[in-house]
Amino acid sequence: MNGNTHLFIPGPTNIPEEVRRAMNLPMEDMRAPDFGDFILPLLADLKKVFRTETGRVFVFPGSGTGAWEAAISNTLNPGDRVLMSRFGQFSMLWVDMAERLGLDVEVIDVDWGKGVPAEEYAARLGADTGHAIKAVFATHNETATGVSSDIRAVREALDAAGHPALLFVDGVSSIGSIEFEMETWGVDLAVSGSQKGFMLPAGLGLLAVSEKALAAHERAKMPRCYFSFADMIRLNDTGYFPYTPPTQLLRGLRVSLDMLLDAGLESVWERHHRLASGVRAAVAEWQGCRLVADGPEWHSDTVSAIYAPEGIDARQVIDTAYHKYQTSLGSGLAKLAGRAFRIGHLGSLNPVMLCGALSAAEMALCDAGAAITPGQGVAAAQEAFRMTTPPGTGPQ
Ligand code: PLP
Repeated sequence: MNGNTHLFIPGPTNIPEEVRRAMNLPMEDMRAPDFGDFILPLLADLKKVFRTETGRVFVFPGSGTGAWEAAISNTLNPGDRVLMSRFGQFSMLWVDMAERLGLDVEVIDVDWGKGVPAEEYAARLGADTGHAIKAVFATHNETATGVSSDIRAVREALDAAGHPALLFVDGVSSIGSIEFEMETWGVDLAVSGSQKGFMLPAGLGLLAVSEKALAAHERAKMPRCYFSFADMIRLNDTGYFPYTPPTQLLRGLRVSLDMLLDAGLESVWERHHRLASGVRAAVAEWQGCRLVADGPEWHSDTVSAIYAPEGIDARQVIDTAYHKYQTSLGSGLAKLAGRAFRIGHLGSLNPVMLCGALSAAEMALCDAGAAITPGQGVAAAQEAFRMTTPPGTGPQ
């Protein structure tokens, strides 16, 4: 009766009907003689989204956080030195995990709004002539601040120093949405989850691992059990799992991979850029608001974190959008709580859906006392969408 509730948080994202239907099926036998015929091509196609040919992928029941843990515990040794940077809630949590798992973490703190400091990485790696640093971590897309970082530049920093450290990348809110090239960027471990660009419910921790990282795995002594690559490889090689896999999620993954690969990843990336440009055009019109991302080089095409105007509590904006306009906006996390709100613009969505989100945010901002003329931001987004064409279509 009240129509749909609108979901514009940066994950979980909206699930396409095709994917939802594909998951609505009876339980099946995960040891059936033909189950492997389903799993082997699924894993092969997942590699295409990570853009790796020589690496291998892992699908763990879990979430992105589990995939972080799998990456660390399978390839490193207790006490190993690692280089990380911290500029938002998720890069902060990854550092926390690395410390709790017993790594010797060299952390670079960066202002929230900026991203991976590739030049500082180059300096630290250049100075580490004894190669004490075993791995370099980079959060590709910091979902808390709406900041994307240049992973190529991190690879260049490693190469310039002739440094053999592994390159770990958090691609939870980037892979399957914005450009990510595991093979050509020389990424050794890429981590993602099912509930963002893959347009599925939460429940799968996704990983792609290079040959170099698989070789490190052979020597790595960190304790692991549930997330053991070795156990997974042994069973996956024939299309099965070492424990009960979430078969419905895997059936959903089949359809989401088909959708991403049929559209073409370049087209998916372009679609996200177009959607993000509309959001940024609206924010530019909202007096007193600004992006947390501190300059275009950091703009994320999957999520925008937006400072509320001075004197306005972003929590009130989110609360009003939810209760009065049936729209979920993302909250400000950690030190951004109350200061910023977020709009997730990734996964299954289009310009008209986003105009709805922008309209709800704009009404809620006005209700909270922002000096914004209703329609101002939405009009800018409409103009941005009108002046561009959806990927894969000619001029209209
Ligand atoms: N890394 C990033 C960049 C994220 O955005 C998230 C979740 O939003 C995570 C890691 C943690 O993933 P999960 O919540 O799936 O465990």
